[in-house]
Amino acid sequence: MSFHHAWLDDVRPNPYADQLALGFRLLRFVRPLEREYRAYMREDGLVLKCITLSIVMLLWLTFAGLDSYLIQPPQLWWMLAVRLGVFLLLLVCGGLLLQGRHTHLMVPLSLICNGVFGLGAAAVVAIAHTVDLNYPYEGLLLICLAAYFLVGLRLSEAIASYLVVLLAYVGFELLAGLPIPRLVNNVLFLLCANLIGAVGCYLLEFKSREHFLVSRLMRVLAEHDSLTGLHNRRSFNRQLERLWRQAQRDNQSLALLLCDIDHFKAYNDRYGHPAGDNVLQRVGTVLSEAARRPLDMSVRLGGEEFAVLLYNISEEQARQRAETLRAALEHLDIRHERSDTANMVTMSIGVACLRPAEGGELAQLYEHADRALYEAKAFGRNQVVA
Ligand code: GH3
Ligand code: MG
Ligand code: MG
Repeated sequence: MSFHHAWLDDVRPNPYADQLALGFRLLRFVRPLEREYRAYMREDGLVLKCITLSIVMLLWLTFAGLDSYLIQPPQLWWMLAVRLGVFLLLLVCGGLLLQGRHTHLMVPLSLICNGVFGLGAAAVVAIAHTVDLNYPYEGLLLICLAAYFLVGLRLSEAIASYLVVLLAYVGFELLAGLPIPRLVNNVLFLLCANLIGAVGCYLLEFKSREHFLVSRLMRVLAEHDSLTGLHNRRSFNRQLERLWRQAQRDNQSLALLLCDIDHFKAYNDRYGHPAGDNVLQRVGTVLSEAARRPLDMSVRLGGEEFAVLLYNISEEQARQRAETLRAALEHLDIRHERSDTANMVTMSIGVACLRPAEGGELAQLYEHADRALYEAKAFGRNQVVA
């Protein structure tokens, strides 16, 4: 199974696209992605785990009823004791899982539930076989398939947990004195069920990993500009609203720097569109350096217009930051013969800074920055107006 589409090459380098192109036949990503995938699985699998656990506990009790029909005391008491013990353990683990608070315990708890359930079933079957060789062992097959398909375990975890159960089953049956041909027959069927489960689980995990990579990649593509790699306008609008509310709550300020390249149409006309694209990329790199804190953001709004959103910053600091950006582009010294302002590519920046908690509306931030940019253009370009 490989996942190679020509379009992937167009969006690289990107960690998700790189991993898709590299493949993941061994069901493993490169380290940071693997960590991200497991965190995603922990959040994604909670509902499935809870449904499975409820069904399994119900079946477990139903089969207890069957035991009392098939097996006589005192073996029946032992079997019911095992069933009760397993039921209580599942109840505790299920309660912890349901809380959803201990996400780091999600995998260990699932493995414990799975193991306890499998070991309990193996013990019940072996106890029954001490008095009735016809007691059905097939429940173990069902548990095996549930472990592979319904618990949301990764393939390696499912195989490991089921091998433990299989070994325990063989041990219990030898102690119970099940005839060897019968034991071999049962183990063979269990191994076949494991094989089917493992193949199915492999395909499921492969598809789940592929879905994870493709959906994350789509999100990145939907939120970023393909030329500069900066956030796009859609992503900017969402972040602006989110930050506005956060700044309102925390009584912090929010600054917006609107940047527009000067005489860019003339640049395209003189040097050609590809050279213009190259300038946009270099401006993108300069701007991305300006937004390094987690809540800051640099954006390509469209064409040759960019924005930088800065959280918790004073007006004077924002103005200085804009001045640094303006100077950084000037220092790149990209030749521009047709500019009326300077002989290199320059940009004008309008700065606005508001404290949402002190009143005012979100639209005002943009309006103020836009007016400041207009003034920067009117006063002769290549300058910052706050
Ligand atoms: P001003 O100093 O007033 O900002 O003048 P300007 O020429 O920069 O502004 P104007 O809005 O007239 O022109 C913007 C130009 O940006 C026009 C268009 O050719 C160019 N442009 C927009 N998007 C792209 C792009 O993706 N690549 C390239 N190479 N050029 C683009
Ligand atoms: Mg311009
Ligand atoms: Mg413009």
